[in-house]
Amino acid sequence: MAHEPAAHARSRGGRSQAPLSEAEPAADPAIRARRSDTIAAVATASGRAGVGVVRVSGPDLSAIITGIVGRSLEPRRATFSTFKGSHGETLDQGLALLFPAPASFTGETVLELHAHGGPAVLALLLGRCLDLGARLAEPGEFTQRAFLNGKLDLAQAESVADLIEAATSTAARAAARSLTGLFSQEIRTLVDALTELRAFTEATLDFPEEDIDFMRASDAAGKLATVREALAGIVARARQGSLLREGLRVVLVGQPNVGKSSLLNQLVGDELAIVTPVPGTTRDAIRGSIEIDGIPLHVIDTAGLRPTSDAVEKIGIERTRSAIEHADLALVVTDAREPEHPADSAITAELPAALPRILIRNKIDLASLEATSTPGEGMMMVAVSAKTGAGIALLRQAILKLVGVHEDMEGAFLARERHLRALKAAASSLEAAAAHLAGSPAPLELFAEELREAQAALSSITGEFTADDLLGEIFGRFCIGK
Ligand code: GDP
Repeated sequence: MAHEPAAHARSRGGRSQAPLSEAEPAADPAIRARRSDTIAAVATASGRAGVGVVRVSGPDLSAIITGIVGRSLEPRRATFSTFKGSHGETLDQGLALLFPAPASFTGETVLELHAHGGPAVLALLLGRCLDLGARLAEPGEFTQRAFLNGKLDLAQAESVADLIEAATSTAARAAARSLTGLFSQEIRTLVDALTELRAFTEATLDFPEEDIDFMRASDAAGKLATVREALAGIVARARQGSLLREGLRVVLVGQPNVGKSSLLNQLVGDELAIVTPVPGTTRDAIRGSIEIDGIPLHVIDTAGLRPTSDAVEKIGIERTRSAIEHADLALVVTDAREPEHPADSAITAELPAALPRILIRNKIDLASLEATSTPGEGMMMVAVSAKTGAGIALLRQAILKLVGVHEDMEGAFLARERHLRALKAAASSLEAAAAHLAGSPAPLELFAEELREAQAALSSITGEFTADDLLGEIFGRFCIGK
């Protein structure tokens, strides 16, 4: 029997069923209402610069153009103009650029005034725009309008902020990749594959006599496996990107005087931590941020974990414990001359069992040992000297290896925690779906439901199923003028 599953499933009315695809971005009525007004902001960083830009977006900018530029502007052409104040006085001279809707960043008509980059002159220009009917843009509002008008999907909109905030060139490249829509494209390919699979399933549910044989014939299990594999690949690349974005939290633990501060100094490359031969002097969690192969590492040097009656030192020890709980990696520093020190085992026992760790045997120069690196499951051993710098390169490599950084970060997507959560939710739904499909008899209703959930999770990344409050939160973190 020749089914047309996709068309059939869509036309069926019986069960209450989520649509197979939803393209309309979510938006609350307040957001939609506000979209009709005109917004303005200084788009360039505050401070003095050669050029500063005031950006205006709205449905009709003619009053602002007439009031400031005094003549009509040719679309997308830089026009040298005198910018006028309310009494016809000159505020500045510069370039005016008009992008009529819908061919603009926001999808509305956009005016850019390129003036001189001084805070006072830009404030005057912005004030003039506000007098002429614009209101001050909220953080991220230009990008939010671009999203609401379908110019960018949500993942792309987020990558605008990520590109601006990128702290390393590798992170900037990863954000730029997301901005062009590469990440979204891969997500959409998965969503399409799931849509197809759901259509097959829905059709099968409508023809119980065909049932599981039809699913077998259409190789539902094989298709599901392909989607799961593709998803696993995206998760791995998103994880890399999340490392680029967030960096790693590395906590240094070890007995007093084993060389934690000296090691941190070696890793940071300057004299940041206090190095002293008196036990217990490093009382605070002094942070240093370093970069290894484009990955930001937030190193937390902590007070020695040891029983104490000193009140200040006790606070330090509390900080150590909290830092350990939130860490991605622990560096356990020991003295190479005392490899079996019981205090070291006590410290190791305090670490959360799942926390990857590197056991560092320091001061090899005093123990006449070579710098070495010994691999292990979730645990590596590296012998170094914080004094001579021997083995520090090995230690850097071990750190990257243990947290799963690939050598090639070029394929990474600059994913956010939100994306990782959605990808994880989709992966676990698909895992459950696979288990249902393998059942005998396979509960197809449950299988279909898991597919639907996976699809919804993935669609939330590009913004097709995204709740309004989440949108507010995402765009609220942008800078004004973006
Ligand atoms: P922390 O208490 O663990 O932070 O230890 P410090 O970094 O303050 O180091 C304690 C003492 O050991 C200082 O005098 C350091 O100069 C010395 N030290 C640290 N690492 C080494 C090393 O690899 N070799 C040698 N010879 N001395 C070291």
